[in-house]
Formats: sequence, structure tokens, C-alpha cells
Amino acid sequence: MTRNAEVAQILQEIGLLLEIEGKDKFKPLAYYRGVRSITSLGEDVESIAKRNGLTDIPGIGKSLAEVIKSYLETGRVEILEGLRTRVPVKVLELDSIPGVGPKTIKLVYEKLGVTDLDSLEKAANEGKLSGLPGLGDKTQSQIIEGIQIVRAGHERTLLADALSTAERIENELRKLKIVKQLTIAGSTRRRRETIGDLDFLVIATEPEIVMNAFVKTKGVSAIIAHGPTKSSVRLESGLQVDLRVLPNDSFGAGLQYFTGSVDHNVKLRSIAQKMGLRLNEYGLFRGEKKVSGEDEEGIYKSLGLQWIPPELREDTGEIEAAQKGKLPNLITMKDIRGDLHSHTDQSDGKNTIEEMLNAAQALGYEYYCVSDHTQSLTIAHGMDEGRLLERIKEIDELNSSGRWKMKILKGAEVDILADGALDIEDDVLSQLDVVTVSVHSRWKDKKEVMTKRVCHALENRYVHILGHPTGRLIGKRYQLEIDLEQVFETAKKHNVMMELNAHPERLDLNAGNLRAATKVGLKIAINTDAHRTSELDNMQFGIFQARRGWLTSDDVINTYPLKKLMKHIKK
Ligand SMILES: [Zn+2]
Ligand SMILES: [Zn+2]
Repeated sequence: MTRNAEVAQILQEIGLLLEIEGKDKFKPLAYYRGVRSITSLGEDVESIAKRNGLTDIPGIGKSLAEVIKSYLETGRVEILEGLRTRVPVKVLELDSIPGVGPKTIKLVYEKLGVTDLDSLEKAANEGKLSGLPGLGDKTQSQIIEGIQIVRAGHERTLLADALSTAERIENELRKLKIVKQLTIAGSTRRRRETIGDLDFLVIATEPEIVMNAFVKTKGVSAIIAHGPTKSSVRLESGLQVDLRVLPNDSFGAGLQYFTGSVDHNVKLRSIAQKMGLRLNEYGLFRGEKKVSGEDEEGIYKSLGLQWIPPELREDTGEIEAAQKGKLPNLITMKDIRGDLHSHTDQSDGKNTIEEMLNAAQALGYEYYCVSDHTQSLTIAHGMDEGRLLERIKEIDELNSSGRWKMKILKGAEVDILADGALDIEDDVLSQLDVVTVSVHSRWKDKKEVMTKRVCHALENRYVHILGHPTGRLIGKRYQLEIDLEQVFETAKKHNVMMELNAHPERLDLNAGNLRAATKVGLKIAINTDAHRTSELDNMQFGIFQARRGWLTSDDVINTYPLKKLMKHIKK
């Protein structure tokens, strides 16, 4: 979430809680007005606060400015904490349900003691809502439907969030000395973009002790099952976590089975069957005799297959390739030599160019490209030709200062305008090392219009990379309507590369599109699009997605040494 979105959310929560408390009729309205002005702000609220300009924002008076300042500086707001104690209602959660607003929240809280999504759902299912003043049967069924929409949106967790939760639980369980093996399986191990629930597998000498520790792990909100070989809990975030104990000699079989996917496993079982074997979570058997099961490699080998990396196990050709010994040699983190798309505080990034460079250098990169937004993206304080020329000079100076061992590349993320023209003159573009072009406006253009628009941009002779090609935000915004086949063809013709944007919410292109792009001979750039130093670490998510897209290091240009890279992007 951006700082502006965080602030808007805080103001919204205060407004809602004030309205429900009901002491003052006008105060909530002032907070809602504040939410509207913060969300339509063209600038970072933090920078405005730093220059003491909060009260200059229309709709932000003295008291709201105090609230915003306190939140930005300390992460805490006293008024809000007081309100949360007096009115213990999860207002933001309830307010996100289509058809539910402050008035309904106040009503169901006061009359039925509803405080969150779960208690509202229970009341609705028991028919308690329709008896309330102003709420009929129709509203009740609309609310039930709204709750389902909200739940569907929360059903799956982004891989990045799932992995950090998994790591925390793993570290906690590993403290127990009796744990001999502990692995995450399921879609998390396959590095899917989003995760349904977490599946842990464990070998331990005294499983009961592990189970007891597991159900008491931090963040557990409910114990769904607590048994000797399997336990399940629900975390406060809503994520379900399962832990299974496996016998030592079937760990590989269990790992294979619980990693999936279902389609991949179905095909493996049928291969086993044809060989007169039987495959299940305990092992691979001929009659009663166990052929293999201790490790995964043994199982695949016994079936006449290469071991298949989990990211490929989707039954999209990996089994056939493994039968022929032709699996791709997938890219790894170690192959990456640089990052070609990143921002600084010159546009909407949070860190200075020097801070970003220091962080990139610490990753051991050979080269690093600074590519801030351009002028049409006013919300991100994009650069015009003049500022870009200054930036070019600045980077030349930084390079010759000798302060960084890596090569700093001059770049920009140039806006593709409505007609496919770029918003920076060619004579300035020609002075940049890496020009990335992206769509940041008119998301709803019709397919033909969008395709034509993007293809036109790729025809510009100074363009190197198409940034986040489909524009999707996982779980938040659908992708653009665009004919990728045509885009790939144009890109191929003009030697333009496709980006795999590594941001956990983007992962754009997706696995299938990556395969299609490399099939026509396009090269990929895996970029973090970092807006702050910590986001440089998102490269790992790009690598996971690249592996799911069958990419080798040769497919990815930022695995090339600098010389080869520059030669490749020269047009
Ligand atoms: Zn962008
Ligand atoms: Zn960007």
C-alpha cells in the first residue's frame, strides 16, 4: 500500500468509528472529505508533511493534519486508539462489503452486537437482519451476497505473503530439536502467484510435541484439527496452515504427493500404472514391495523421468520433456547480474538515487538502471526532457566518480500516450542506455485500440523494453485488453524485450505468456521496478515466475555480462 492509501485508510476508519459512536454529526463528514482529498492527491503525502504543507491541501484542516502527521511520524494515532477501545468494531472490514455502509454498521452493532465480517454473516444467515428497522429480506440477501464477494477476494494469499508467513512458522518449529525434516509443500513450493493454504510436512521423533507447538504458534486464531499425524490451524490473516507428520521412509513420496499439482500427479500415477506400479503418498510399489519413497528423485527415476523442479509441475509438457531428458535448465537467482527498471525520489520512489545505488551494489550487481517516470505521469511527478537531461548528466558524473563498482545505466520509464506516441522527444531518448515504455493511463481502451497503441510505441527506434506488459495487479485489477500475439510479433520485429515485472502484485508477464514470448524468440528482462531500497529484494519473485515460465538464463537479458547486454540492446 502507498503512504497515501495508508493515510486515507486511517482517516476512513476514524470517520466510521466517529459516526458509529454518534457523538458528533459533522466530524465524520470532515474525515470522509479528508479521505477524498488524500486519495485524489497528485503528490506523496509524506513529502507534503515534510515541508509542513498538509493544511494547504483542500479539505485538510488543523486537526486532520495533526492526525496525519502523528501517523506518518509514529505509526500511531491517539484518537483512533481511543475510538477502537470504545467502539470495538472492525469498521473497515464491514465497510468493504458491497451494500453495507456506516448506517448499517451502526445499526447491527447496536442491535445485534455485530463487530466483524464473521458475526455479520452469522446474523444474516440466522435471518436476524431482516427484522431491523429499514432492513428488509432483500437487503439481507444482498448483504449475504456481498460477504461472499469480499471472502472470494480474500481467499487467496499472494505468494510473497505466504512465503514470509511460512518462513516465520518454519523458524518457530525448527527451534524444537526433535524436528528432523521440515518442508513446505503444495502450491507454495510450486511458487504459484497466489496460495490457497500452507502445507507443511515434518519428520520428528516425538510428533505430539511438534503438533502441540504448531497449534500454539504465533498468530493462530482458531484450531481446526489437532491430531497425532495431522493438524490444521487458521491464522489471524485468514490463511489456513496444515502440518502433516510423515514416516521417515516415505518422506519423498509424501513430498511429491503433497506438492502436486493434481494434474501432474494424475499423469504420474497413470505412468506408474502402465509400468505395473502403484504410486501414492507412502511410496512407489510393485505389489507389496516398495520400489522407492524415501526421496523424490528416486520416485521420478523409477518412473523413467528426470527429477522435475516443483515450479514446472502443472502438467503443461514437463512430464513429456522429463521422459526425453529435455527439461530446461531453469534460471536461478545467481544468474542475475543487474536490474533494469527502478525508481528514485525524482519521481514516485521513496529513496534518493544514492540510497538506491548503495542497496543495488550490496546485492553484488554488475549494472543497475535508474528509470524514473516521465512527464505525463503527473501523479508520480514524472520528468520532462529538461529534468531527464540533468539526470543523464548526473549519472555520467556518478559513473566517473568511481564510487560504485557497478555500471549505472541511464534509463526512463516512458509513458505510452493515448495514440501510442511517447511523452519524451527522440533526441533525449537517444541519449539513454535503456528505454522502458509502459501504459499508465486509459486502462479501459478497447482491445484493438490498446494493441495498436502499444505496438506503435514499440516501433519507436529508441525503445528497448515493454514494462509490465499486461498491467494487471493480482486480485485488484484485471489485465489490459491487448492482443499479446501481435505485440510479441511487433516486438520481435523491432528488437524490443518484454519485461517480467517482479513486483509480487504484478508478476507480469505470467508464466504462460512468458513461454509464448520466448517461443517466438523474444528476450525477457526480469526487473523489480523498485520504488524503495527494500523492493530490490523482489527479484526473487521474478525468478520464481521465470522458472514457472520455463525460462533459462539465456532467455533473460539481465543475466548477460554488461558488454553482451549493451551489444544486445543496441539498435
Ligand atoms: Zn510502470
Ligand atoms: Zn516503474
